[in-house]
Amino acid sequence: MSFSVTILGNASAKPTADSHPSAQAVNFNEQYYLVDAGEGVQQQLVRRGINPLRLRGVFISHLHGDHVYGLFPLIATLGLYGKRTPLDVYAPAPLGEILEGHKRWFAADLPYEVVWHRVDTTHHELVFENNTLEVWSLPLRHRVPASGYLFREKTPQLNVEKYKIVKYGLDIGQIVAAKRGEDITLPTGEVIPNSELTYMPHLPRSYAYCSDTNFSARLAEMVRGVDLLYHETTYADAERRQARDRGHSTTVEAAEVALRAGVGRLIIGHFSSRYKDREALLAECRSRFAESYIAREGEKFEIEERR
Ligand SMILES: [Zn+2]
Ligand SMILES: [Zn+2]
Repeated sequence: MSFSVTILGNASAKPTADSHPSAQAVNFNEQYYLVDAGEGVQQQLVRRGINPLRLRGVFISHLHGDHVYGLFPLIATLGLYGKRTPLDVYAPAPLGEILEGHKRWFAADLPYEVVWHRVDTTHHELVFENNTLEVWSLPLRHRVPASGYLFREKTPQLNVEKYKIVKYGLDIGQIVAAKRGEDITLPTGEVIPNSELTYMPHLPRSYAYCSDTNFSARLAEMVRGVDLLYHETTYADAERRQARDRGHSTTVEAAEVALRAGVGRLIIGHFSSRYKDREALLAECRSRFAESYIAREGEKFEIEERR
């Protein structure tokens, strides 16, 4: 089952010639979820071969323009593409009000519904789920209410060892029960514990998106053990004070979150336009957390299945 993150934008607020503001496409089981929607996101989707009609939801971290200005043209374009099913948008207040105004002035004849789901930026809670995936909010520390998002695969269904099926002569009903995690009672009365019959095909995978935010030890707790963590690094280590005053993080702070949380890999982004040499930012992260990578536009980070 696919699970990947494609970087559509990695810059902070000021425009630069070669990068776009925050946006990412999470692909889980060939369903796409947009995380933040900086200016130009719809062109970025097209450039990366992602049909916007395949978006199953949009998750907005906060109402700063560099995270949301791309949403409104995208909504209009989806109408031109013939979208008929609702578009679910998860975001802090007051996005609902803004969407209402946008609809009134620019999208009165939109052929589908935009459904706003208010995200409480003070709680770590479930905001979306289907059969295989959960998305949790992650309260962030920024200048305005902000939430990151934790994409967590649900525990995959158990597989039954083939040779155990033969050994115990299990029928279809017993196999289905074992896949649900039940122990099996044989006609002889012998009970076979589920753990002897089944195995998990792979460990549940997870991805956490954390932007924009100050360093937060609480956040590190909430993203404990994720396979892949995106944490903003607007500033280099030398600009620690400025980062703190503006509700952002430095390279070393992002690495510290990754280290404390024991994540698999760290992706850094939301770079201030002042930094032309992003390799230097990466080096600062790697000095603390070796598995650090730059969120390069167009790059796709796969989250592999592990046993
Ligand atoms: Zn930002
Ligand atoms: Zn911001």
